[in-house]
Amino acid sequence: MVRYEYYKPGTIPEAIGLMGRFNNEAAYIAGGTDVMVLLRQKKLMPKALISLRNIKELAAFDGYIIGACVTHSQIERDDRIKKRLSALHDAVCNLGSVQIRNVATIGGNVCNAAPSADTACPLLVLDAESLIVGPGAERRVAMDDFFVGPGRTVLAKGEILKGFMMPAFGEATGSAYIKHTRRNAMDLPII
Ligand SMILES: Cc1cc2nc3c(=O)[nH]c(=O)nc-3n(C[C@H](O)[C@H](O)[C@H](O)COP(=O)(O)OP(=O)(O)OC[C@H]3O[C@@H](n4cnc5c(N)ncnc54)[C@H](O)[C@@H]3O)c2cc1C
Repeated sequence: MVRYEYYKPGTIPEAIGLMGRFNNEAAYIAGGTDVMVLLRQKKLMPKALISLRNIKELAAFDGYIIGACVTHSQIERDDRIKKRLSALHDAVCNLGSVQIRNVATIGGNVCNAAPSADTACPLLVLDAESLIVGPGAERRVAMDDFFVGPGRTVLAKGEILKGFMMPAFGEATGSAYIKHTRRNAMDLPII
């Protein structure tokens, strides 16, 4: 069994500092539902794991700002999201199982950059902006520019996705997300 050093920093600068200490060869972990699979398959062999779950800023959630460590279950239960950003609500309601939704985060879903990521389409369609923090500065990147290919994003080594800014829409607007899968049981979308 491979053993990893595990860190649980309380602030973003602390997490970025730790990543620097490991020359960017550690891995950030949020809910771990993607990371743990990769570790088990030995497709990911980081020098250490840096958990983001103790960082309060990443848990911010007021309906307009959605922190990267907000779980799919939190979004599913939120009436503001259900009413104003229904495509995102639809997407998380059908993501994985209850157990997955309870721990997996919206940030992890997006940073993994799988073409099948359920929250990617709603965030793109709803014109969300990502908030990214690096060793030197913070920047905003429109979700339109966030993905650069399958499994690839604009995040530079060591950078942390802090969350998303969601635009305010008028009362008379709405959106929907329909997931097309091969089977009815838990499955990733093909369209
Ligand atoms: C049984 C099962 C079913 C699933 N079903 C679905 C499904 O139906 N739809 C779907 O879209 N996905 C599904 N997934 C995939 C996964 O659950 C989601 O992608 C989930 O949202 C990942 O979030 P996480 O917090 O667990 O990410 P983690 O595994 O913690 O991290 C994923 C990646 O993002 C990086 N990362 C995480 N947070 C940050 C951050 N804030 N800043 C920078 N980097 C970060 C990590 O380093 C890692 O590279 C499933 C997975 C499993 C195991």
